[in-house]
Amino acid sequence: MEAKKETRQFKTEVQQLMSIIINSLYSHREIFLRELISNASDAIDKLRFKAQTQSDILGTDTEFKIRIVPNKKKRTLEISDNGIGMTYDEVVENIGTIAKSGTAGFLEAATALNKPDMLTPELIGQFGVGFYSAFIVANRVSLITKAAGSDTATKWESTGDGSYTVEETEKETRGTTVILSLKKTEKDEQDFTDEWTIRNIIKKHSDFVAYPILMDVEKTEPVLDKDGKPDGNKTIKVVREETLNSMKAIWTKDKKEVSDEEYNEFYRHIAHDWNEPLTHLHVKLEGTTEYSALLYIPSRPPLDLFHGEGKHGIQLYSKRVFIMENCKELMPPYLAFIKGVVDAPDLNLNVSREILQQDALVKNIRKNLVKKILTLLEELDKDKYEQFFKEFGSIFKAGLSMDYDNRGKIADLLRYKTTKSNGAFSSLKDYVNRMQTDQEAIYYITGENLSALLNSPHLERLKDKDYEVLLMTDPMDEWVLRDLHEYEEKTFKSAEKGDLDFETIDDKRKDEYHALFDFIKTSLDDKVKEVKPSTHLKDSVACLSGDPNDMSAYMEKVLRATGQETPQVKRVLELNMDHPLLAKIKAIYERDKDSSVLKDYSDLLFDMAVISGGGKLDNPSRFSKTIGDLMARGLAGSPF
Ligand code: ADP
Repeated sequence: MEAKKETRQFKTEVQQLMSIIINSLYSHREIFLRELISNASDAIDKLRFKAQTQSDILGTDTEFKIRIVPNKKKRTLEISDNGIGMTYDEVVENIGTIAKSGTAGFLEAATALNKPDMLTPELIGQFGVGFYSAFIVANRVSLITKAAGSDTATKWESTGDGSYTVEETEKETRGTTVILSLKKTEKDEQDFTDEWTIRNIIKKHSDFVAYPILMDVEKTEPVLDKDGKPDGNKTIKVVREETLNSMKAIWTKDKKEVSDEEYNEFYRHIAHDWNEPLTHLHVKLEGTTEYSALLYIPSRPPLDLFHGEGKHGIQLYSKRVFIMENCKELMPPYLAFIKGVVDAPDLNLNVSREILQQDALVKNIRKNLVKKILTLLEELDKDKYEQFFKEFGSIFKAGLSMDYDNRGKIADLLRYKTTKSNGAFSSLKDYVNRMQTDQEAIYYITGENLSALLNSPHLERLKDKDYEVLLMTDPMDEWVLRDLHEYEEKTFKSAEKGDLDFETIDDKRKDEYHALFDFIKTSLDDKVKEVKPSTHLKDSVACLSGDPNDMSAYMEKVLRATGQETPQVKRVLELNMDHPLLAKIKAIYERDKDSSVLKDYSDLLFDMAVISGGGKLDNPSRFSKTIGDLMARGLAGSPF
């Protein structure tokens, strides 16, 4: 069989990403080694997991290890593992494309904006593009790999200039070897073939990797005589294989023994995120539910979090033996952004994902961890907590609908901007403490942008009463309120749906306007379901609102934007009976019910209500024409 060799182009986004990585991470270039070692360690983890159900897959090669081979003369550095390896197709799939949704779009946007400074190392870190970091230090990267259980091997090679080659090749053992042909280094730069440089980098970034990282090192040892005693001062140079990492599982250590830097490095290793985490939780629990855990809250969501494909979640271990990666059973979906390690000594090593879902121990651990995470969040300092809430609030809130037991705690952790908070976040507790003595409900309004909400006509009467209103701009807010209903026995009340119950409308005045409102309703029949006197308005003449159980206009917009079929909900047109304009229209109506301007005025009232609610008009040109006509008429007698 003729071996095929193909030359392929990198996907555009890979090419872009590579040049960004090379340029912006040059001053952090030693991290390439951490990234390649993390990949090697992941590959071994994957194989171990597979071997639990396919015991023959390991063959005789059962000692997992990672090997580093520097060659000073050739200026190469090799990183090998005996992990799961890759097939030809997997190489093409994994190395040469970026599987994560969002990456391509983000890069496109950054390039279109021509803003390379948007692409800081922190941001790039989020992509988790570890392998490509090899090109920071190498001008040629070769990868030779043989998938576990396969007979053929694959070689991938690139000089990072837009294309790569893939071909079938031979390799004796299972696993992957990455060979870097190193760039020339200046005198004062790190030399990655130097033993001490490699030792230091591994100690610093990869000490806790669970498999031995081996390297042959040259040692000078005393020459021994036939009794095994040193033979005078004679020495000999020998090559010994040394393990460069301590492999100490950091989660089994005592908290006091672990430095912040070690915690951060471990996070980078397991999360594939180059940013520092926001905070971590390190617990050891003994008793009936025994486990230890080291969990992290990232400082930013990874790009793939919202696409439901996040892959570096929680790793499950039992007595330091790896069981599985991304164990979703250990965290509820509203905390899916948590990363780390859980080690449960009583867990069966051969547990499958299916069994795990039913496992009582796992359920208990999860319950316990959720409580601890919520306490951790409660105890975060204000700035850190607000950063957390900005980044993860939207997903975290979903806990109100999912986690009945912890609903109270989650509600305490909600934060909102309000009509009185001057752009700062407020908790519900603080809101309730600030409530006016005669105020019974917690008022909220939902919409897209803060300034439109702050100026919404729906808030006129509430502001007049000096009642504070929560400004909700996250589409999730309205969703979760359906499950929250109340906080500290105060019910939530929408400022735009239903009537404000503290305002009563005089029946006599209502009757006076009854006929006019009926008329307006008939002329706007296709647009509104009701025309009624407003309890919200004080200065404005009109606004649109909903019935208490209607979906808000904002929610409708959001659902439509996400492509969901949503019936057009007809709104209620609220009119302000105290407004002089309405009195004038009423006078015209009473004089001449058939006056042609009445239809125009009805449309205008509706359009004004739409605009003041931040909506878009169906027919803006009709609106400006009517306004133009009105102004001309109004100014007809004016001297200007
Ligand atoms: P990440 O590790 O964040 O997924 P990388 O670009 O470093 O991103 O790697 C891409 C993919 O290539 C990995 O997800 C893995 O499937 C595969 N891969 C990389 N290195 C190895 C290796 N040493 N052994 C097996 N597969 C690997």
